[in-house]
Amino acid sequence: MSSDNAIETRGLTKHYGKGGTIKALTSLDLTIARGELFGFLGPNGAGKSTAIRTLLGFLHPTSGSASVLGLDVVKDSVAIRRRIGYLPSGFAVYDYMSGKEYLDHMRDLTGRPSLLRHRIMDALELSDAVLKRPVRDYSRGMRQKIGVVQAMETDPELLILDEPSEGLDPLMQRSLQELLLERVAVGRTVFFSSHLISEVERICNRVAIVRGGKLVALETVATLVRFQRRHVSALVTRKPLRMAGISGVTDLKIVAEGRAFRVTCDAEAVAVPKLIARLQSAGIRDLLVEAASLEEAFMSYYGDAHDVVTDIPALPYALATSAVKRAAKRVRRTPATAPKRAVKRAPKRPVKRPAKRASR
Ligand code: ADP
Repeated sequence: MSSDNAIETRGLTKHYGKGGTIKALTSLDLTIARGELFGFLGPNGAGKSTAIRTLLGFLHPTSGSASVLGLDVVKDSVAIRRRIGYLPSGFAVYDYMSGKEYLDHMRDLTGRPSLLRHRIMDALELSDAVLKRPVRDYSRGMRQKIGVVQAMETDPELLILDEPSEGLDPLMQRSLQELLLERVAVGRTVFFSSHLISEVERICNRVAIVRGGKLVALETVATLVRFQRRHVSALVTRKPLRMAGISGVTDLKIVAEGRAFRVTCDAEAVAVPKLIARLQSAGIRDLLVEAASLEEAFMSYYGDAHDVVTDIPALPYALATSAVKRAAKRVRRTPATAPKRAVKRAPKRPVKRPAKRASR
């Protein structure tokens, strides 16, 4: 495997349990170049932590192979851990230490100086006074901040962060995103997992979407969004003809609005020119064409995933499409004693997945 890449996995597979019945990760192929800010997106249980812990050498693959900074994840795991910054998910600290003692201890294990401690503390609003207090007195968010400082302060060439935003409030999540962008701007590589679509969309150049331990998409964020459907809404003077026959158009509705007609539909990007031509011949008075967001791209991959919706009440920031939000509200309103008729399925959009394109 090439040392030019920050991370490479080939058929990386990890199955747990007797006889490997729990297929946490199956045949993951990823190549992450140096300098990328790469998002690893998927709902809980998708296999993100398993993949990350395998990259760190905490788990051995059932089959397949992987390298980090050109080093083999099984043979060279100690060397890998010395060179990278790592934030595990559900980060736990030795709580008998003060924050400062903990950070000094972790830094000493790497053998590298803490170049960025105060820069990161400032960004995350952590004071020296807080660092003097025992970690057992910290809130969950403060512990997570300590975890971020620990992972980033030696300015490692590669950061592997498992759900770094977990437990941080939205303002601190933004500050963390700024920090990650800053590191990438000076040539570092960041690989982080998330179930927060918005943060991946905001800062990543590429994203891998995993589901049930399998890679279901590997694209630039721009491509994922570009190949997503458009939402079209037009007001036309006359009832438009031959609309239903346009290939790639779904959810078509034509409703009288005063003396005009409101046409709404979803359309694949390639269908939009023909759609507009037909609308034009009906006399366009108003037209709105919106690209779907990464959030909708994600939902098109997860539209029939039960765990996405059932996760919503516990994860208020996750997967917040309005339809899913409404579903989550209904779940929350359902009394504990009520029969289980809460929404189990995400509203399935009749969305065609983007054609498979070659990935790097
Ligand atoms: P994610 O990080 O995306 O939430 P995980 O990698 O933690 O997903 O989990 C993937 C699957 O593997 C889940 O079904 C989870 O229950 C299972 N799993 C994770 N760790 C273990 C383990 N140590 N033993 C057995 N099953 C596990």
